[in-house]
Amino acid sequence: MTTPDKAAGEAVPSAPVNFIRARVAEDTASGKYGGRVMTRFPPEPNGYLHLGHAKSICLNFGLSKEFGGVTNLRFDDTNPAKEEVEYVESIMRDVKWLGFDWEDRLYYASDYFERLYGFAVELIKKGKAYVDDQTAEEIRANRGTLKEPGRNSPYRDRSVEENLDLFARMRAGEYPDGARVLRAKIDMASPNVVLRDPAMYRIKHVHHHRTGDKWCIYPMYDFAHCFSDSIEGVTHSICTLEFENNRPLYDWFLEQAGVYRPQQIEFARLNLTHTVLSKRKLIQLVNEGITTGWDDPRMPTLSGVRRRGFTPEALRDFCERIGVARADSTVEYGLLEHCLREDLNERAPRAMAVLRPLKVVIENYPEGQVDEFDFPWHPEKDMGRRTVPFSKVLYIEQDDFREVPPKGFHRLYPGNEVRLRYAYYITCREVVKDEAGNIVELRCTYDPESKGGGTPDGRKVKGTLHWVSAAHAIDAEVRLYDLLFTKPNPGAEEDFTSCINPNSLEVLRAKLEPALAGAEPGWRCQFERLGYFCADEKDSKPGAPVFNRAATLKDTWGKIEKKQGGK
Ligand code: ATP
Ligand code: MG
Repeated sequence: MTTPDKAAGEAVPSAPVNFIRARVAEDTASGKYGGRVMTRFPPEPNGYLHLGHAKSICLNFGLSKEFGGVTNLRFDDTNPAKEEVEYVESIMRDVKWLGFDWEDRLYYASDYFERLYGFAVELIKKGKAYVDDQTAEEIRANRGTLKEPGRNSPYRDRSVEENLDLFARMRAGEYPDGARVLRAKIDMASPNVVLRDPAMYRIKHVHHHRTGDKWCIYPMYDFAHCFSDSIEGVTHSICTLEFENNRPLYDWFLEQAGVYRPQQIEFARLNLTHTVLSKRKLIQLVNEGITTGWDDPRMPTLSGVRRRGFTPEALRDFCERIGVARADSTVEYGLLEHCLREDLNERAPRAMAVLRPLKVVIENYPEGQVDEFDFPWHPEKDMGRRTVPFSKVLYIEQDDFREVPPKGFHRLYPGNEVRLRYAYYITCREVVKDEAGNIVELRCTYDPESKGGGTPDGRKVKGTLHWVSAAHAIDAEVRLYDLLFTKPNPGAEEDFTSCINPNSLEVLRAKLEPALAGAEPGWRCQFERLGYFCADEKDSKPGAPVFNRAATLKDTWGKIEKKQGGK
């Protein structure tokens, strides 16, 4: 049993217009860049991708698809100390899983190191860059503030020859880390602090995961990023709002070097309630063992939500619905779950599982007899059928029985009759307790006339319960998840780990109907009345399944949408 994933694009038949699409449409119509559209997704390989990255991926690949263009995957790997091959591999896996294809356009900023060095030399020759001997602290102290201008470095007016010589010797490894930096010579009094002679190159005697020990100077992100876009011929450099102040710097670099200049467009990053979307914080969750790793199903990483049971279709739908804006906002976590329910309601097979089993003995059901019910995997869609055995001893959910029913409780209680889903009506006759007074078993009778869930006299029962046959049930670990944080905006707390939800994971020993024994890792279904579940990618084995709950069936977001007159 596997769940086939639809190809990207199918889930979004008519995409609403947003300001970026409008902008790109304008540029293609006016013939800017020859009508060409090339975007890129440029992750730094210093962590796993999260839901915020999904927004950026969907936006970039969605734009190029819409305008008949292409999207590159480029690793902005300019900071060797924090980067790892594991991250590179996980990022490629996650982009593909989300349904996007960079084809043969896989690039690394590190592949451009030689050319970037050349651009730096070019800028030195034009008198637009200089080697600064100040310490990092001095540079910081001389940068000024938002109100006060910065102070020129005493090394700012070095000759071109001296700068060329020093920069070459930086590359040759003559100086220790931090001894010198190459800076752009722009304006220490600029109201935009980004333009106050930013660093272009720093000395770092660190091994790089791709270039090895070839380099001991590395370009700063801002310098490498804009030239990488230029080298590739990217037409629209889409990025998040915090880079708006950097746009004049990027334009300055490319103009001074006299090279091709893409159009940068900024949009608001995704913020999600009850979660953190910052790699630094996610790394902390992993390193401090607060979660079991990057792919813990409670993590907002793509590998986490995939393991939890989210589909790429649901994530693409989510990214489409949240839209793209220029104002920061926070999206309700409930919307994400809503998108998953909408997708899985259509596509997930149904099955029965009992999470907290209570034994039920049907007194008048013949010993040794088994009814083999033939149920469809889905009530409306053709997903095939499975056999569900019914026998004298069953399990129902502990929650579905009350010795003293509260008002309005229509499930099982002494003397009450309920329907066992698709099978028979049963009536509770007796409650069996252990010495401590705990309910351990119910003695019930069934009505043989009610086979299939109705009776010839048409009598009504209000409650319908799910069940499994005790003799045929398979034991399985089932993991129920809740929000990882108790506060809506954990990032605003002094220490975001102070509001970790202590009940974010509950592990149960459940009883499953036997047809679920064959679940392949990653297979998703609905456990009737309980939610959508996914066989765990790592721990589930055919014959010994482990299921994660991806989402409950209760949909608070759907209700909000209905109230607001949405679909
Ligand atoms: P963080 O600051 O959260 O660690 P980042 O921006 O440093 O993330 P990158 O690897 O540089 O991570 O991100 C790659 C791309 O994804 C960038 O273009 C960035 O703008 C985009 N991106 C990152 N976080 C979000 C977000 N929350 N919403 C939308 N886009 C995002
Ligand atoms: Mg970044």
